[in-house]
Amino acid sequence: MLSKIYDSLLTLAYPQACQICQNSVENSSDGVACRACWEKTRIFSGQETLCHKCGAFLQGKPSDFKTFCHRCDEHFYDLASAVGVYEHARSASVLHLKREPFAAKHLRKLFVSRLENSTFQDATKIVPVPLSKKRLLERGFNQAIVLAKILSAQTGTTLDEQSLTRIIHTPMHRAAMDGKARETSVKDAFEVKRPKFIEDETILLIDDVFTSGATVSSCAKALKEKGASKVYILTLARAL
Ligand SMILES: [Zn+2]
Ligand SMILES: [Zn+2]
Repeated sequence: MLSKIYDSLLTLAYPQACQICQNSVENSSDGVACRACWEKTRIFSGQETLCHKCGAFLQGKPSDFKTFCHRCDEHFYDLASAVGVYEHARSASVLHLKREPFAAKHLRKLFVSRLENSTFQDATKIVPVPLSKKRLLERGFNQAIVLAKILSAQTGTTLDEQSLTRIIHTPMHRAAMDGKARETSVKDAFEVKRPKFIEDETILLIDDVFTSGATVSSCAKALKEKGASKVYILTLARAL
């Protein structure tokens, strides 16, 4: 009730426009998109076929077999999962999260629920994909840490934001970059500076978007070289 009153007051005081359709966002828990836009934003439900390893969307109906896209064959992580495709309300929320270190309640719920419905329950540490010092200074915060904290608070799994660091600053990936170019740009960009905190751990690596998988694969390589037993990837969104 109180939150309803708060929402109405908020709408009166700061009528927030949906960043997609410009209608007003009536519930602050929906964040930057209105309910109608969230309803158009598909969530992976298990009724589609995704690559068994990287979670790439393959077809809109389920398959009886484990299916692989094979673009991820050489990637160093074990399994990757995302809430859904990078589209509509989810992409608007991801962009917002790069500007402000805050995830709205609906987004938090979707992320926690994806973890709860995943096979990643045996993770022993939650590690956010680190930013370079330069990018951290520009942005002021790391959105992957914001997301990692949500899962750590919910599950009680230890958050480790110190052990993995980014030692090479890479320019923002451009849409025109192909998979190979992305791979080269992040190759050896990460380093584990506290190996004993990583050894024999099952790592749940967190990022906002899975694009080509080059970044998370490079992180997983660094983690495994220092003895991590498994690396799972969980992201809010998955580029098609
Ligand atoms: Zn809308
Ligand atoms: Zn794949």
